[in-house]
Amino acid sequence: MTTAARTRSSAELIGAEEPVLAHNYHPLPVVVARAEGAWVEDVEGRRYLDMLAGYSALNFGHRHPALIEAAHRQLDRLTLTSRAFHNDRLAGFAERLAALTGLDMVLPMNTGAEAVESAVKVARKWAYDVKGVPADRATIVVAADNFHGRTTTIVSFSTDETARAGFGPFTPGFRVVPYNDLAALEAAVDETTAAVLIEPIQGEAGVNIPDDGYLTGVRELTRRAGCLFVADEIQSGLGRTGHTLAVDHESVVPDMVLLGKALGGGIVPVSAVVARREVLGVLHPGEHGSTFGGNPLAAAVGTAVVELLETGEFQRRAAELGVVLRGGLEALVGKGVVGFRSRGLWAGVDVDPALGTGREVSERLMREGVLVKDTHGSTIRLAPPLTVRGEELRDALETLGKVLGQGG
Ligand SMILES: *Cc1c(COP(=O)(O)O)cnc(C)c1O
Repeated sequence: MTTAARTRSSAELIGAEEPVLAHNYHPLPVVVARAEGAWVEDVEGRRYLDMLAGYSALNFGHRHPALIEAAHRQLDRLTLTSRAFHNDRLAGFAERLAALTGLDMVLPMNTGAEAVESAVKVARKWAYDVKGVPADRATIVVAADNFHGRTTTIVSFSTDETARAGFGPFTPGFRVVPYNDLAALEAAVDETTAAVLIEPIQGEAGVNIPDDGYLTGVRELTRRAGCLFVADEIQSGLGRTGHTLAVDHESVVPDMVLLGKALGGGIVPVSAVVARREVLGVLHPGEHGSTFGGNPLAAAVGTAVVELLETGEFQRRAAELGVVLRGGLEALVGKGVVGFRSRGLWAGVDVDPALGTGREVSERLMREGVLVKDTHGSTIRLAPPLTVRGEELRDALETLGKVLGQGG
């Protein structure tokens, strides 16, 4: 008992990670120890406004009381059965999630990448069983600058060299077309095409919003061509853009919707493929699965997330505060901001490269008590919890203006 561990400082903890933790991330030098709502606190007790929200995994803020309560209640009853047995939470979760998205059936998984992988498998199976594509010939059309996760199959159709280099050989069967280009999509789709897989808004690419009509065009084109429209809403979905789903902005219903991130309420990893019955119906026992997918703790938290979204309150907040966000960013154009794209409480902000990289701006914001993360080059992404207060958002935008004024 003489060697009781002394509490280590942020700097000590960052240093301690270096030799023992894989270097696949380059985090900002802040060590978070606790959090509530839109605020996090580091080891030394410094407070920061979280303007990233776990890349939208924390849409409802840190430790939302309703979600924490649902998790606690479930922890005290049942946490895991595997799918070898039924559990009493899964049916309700699937029913409510299907109803929320306007689709029929749910395939529960854990991480976003698993949902995407599952969708690729389901689309291929659908192509062979229903569409009649010859065995092993199915193609899936995707967009350049996509981000769908990190597995070997998913990086096979990434256009980001850093994500791919050194990880081949790659999975065949994908065609990449420019995003927001219906003519290119039309040219790439043929009788072998199982699906078109896109993000309705490209998050990692810098909150890249397609032209009005693009999603409608994808819907019409895929219907005409007899292939599936798969929307990866893992980052864009669940209230972020001011609607439940980003495709709702064009009132489009895809054949498959992929959800993750916020579906787990920032508590546990929960993802899902939600689809029409004719599509997910192609799976039979033994053909796909996951030990943890649909576990009762995940289902309880996921159900509580769906309940929050059923009120419409978070979608409304995202839409209303999105006006504040847009206004604040418009005021910074020409004052350090060279351009931005925003929808709801989600923005990609291109800062003047003369004022620093996105990383440098993020570090300056961190020192001023605001946490964001750069995406590429001089772009930073803003995605606060949907629970953020208008005043807090205005303060954060003011801080952004201040650090851009300090730059250069
Ligand atoms: C984050 C993300 C994924 C991958 O999710 P993980 O849980 O990290 O595997 C897939 N698609 C999109 C659009 C994402 O933003």
